[in-house]
Amino acid sequence: MPRPIEARIHSDALAHNLARARAAAPDAKVWAVVKANAYGHGIERVFEGLRGADGFALLDLAEAERLRACGWRGPVLLLEGAFEPRDLELCSRLNLWHVVHCSQQIDWLAAHKTQQPQRVFLKLNSGMNRLGFAPAAYRSAWARLNALPQVDEISLMTHFSDADAPLENSRGIAHQMAVFEATTHDLPGERSLANSAAILRHRMRSDWVRAGIMSYGSAPDFPAHAIAHWDLRPTMTLRSRLIATQPLQAGDTVGYGSSFSAEAPMRIGIVACGYADGYPRHCGTGTPVLVNGVRTRTLGRVSMDMLAVDLTPTPEAAIGSEVTLWGRGPRGSLLAIDEVAHAAGTIGYELMCALAQRVPVRVEVG
Ligand SMILES: *Cc1c(COP(=O)(O)O)cnc(C)c1O
Repeated sequence: MPRPIEARIHSDALAHNLARARAAAPDAKVWAVVKANAYGHGIERVFEGLRGADGFALLDLAEAERLRACGWRGPVLLLEGAFEPRDLELCSRLNLWHVVHCSQQIDWLAAHKTQQPQRVFLKLNSGMNRLGFAPAAYRSAWARLNALPQVDEISLMTHFSDADAPLENSRGIAHQMAVFEATTHDLPGERSLANSAAILRHRMRSDWVRAGIMSYGSAPDFPAHAIAHWDLRPTMTLRSRLIATQPLQAGDTVGYGSSFSAEAPMRIGIVACGYADGYPRHCGTGTPVLVNGVRTRTLGRVSMDMLAVDLTPTPEAAIGSEVTLWGRGPRGSLLAIDEVAHAAGTIGYELMCALAQRVPVRVEVG
């Protein structure tokens, strides 16, 4: 028998979450953001659930090829654009739209030989200082692109640094919105502004919104809001089983470093899941976990292949009992990945992206 750990990808939840993006941005076209191998889910595995999107946004050219191989003929956007001149050949061949964020990319376009003019998204650095043209350089970049025979439509784009931050103690997005407006107000072309947090929290209107994390059933602003608040559903379940149980006496300790010590007699379970599966080692005692669908907590340090859980709330649990590390548990139980991420001092994004290769994955259609 293989080791009992597995991950499941829920197509129905992907479709549901995408519909939530549509409902929150009713006039917009929706990019399903599938970078980082669809946030660790697998491009091919999410394709069915997300094929109702208006387009797919990602940044790795090999992933764009895989998406085309799924049969997708609609828009595909490269969020970081070309990394070198020959990437533009693939853009021509696969009809990929691409971000232009620096003048070198315009040079490459000007030198690119193509029959088919390319659609580009010109990125404004409105304050995040990652990618994009400074406001003072943006309009001349637009004019340069507009004069190139290699360029078809030019869309306008920016990215917010604080759309997920608590509204009362951040600059929020107003400052970046104002920079975007001032720089682009009289330029033609479609606009693409919002990530998940901006879609949900700021009800951002733009021609194209970019739904990443919300599509995967993680709240962009946890713990201020949980997925239930946004009506999002987990799209990835990581589950395993108990492979041992241990009775503890008061004073007994658990695992490496003996960081947990029992105060009274109790029963614990050992789960076939560890950091080599992508479960975060930074989760200390008290991280939520489901055993037979009942909420309990982890105990002690996570090791490479195992972790320990408190069986106090589930006295019936035994070897073979089902353990849900995150996602959907039995009988309608749920554990949001955000809660586990929070306990590890990180965000849902990182956990789903880090699901390890060795974990077998199944797509659940229903
Ligand atoms: C990743 C990314 C997104 C999606 O962000 P989420 O927070 O996951 O919704 C949107 N736009 C750009 C430019 C990105 O890189």
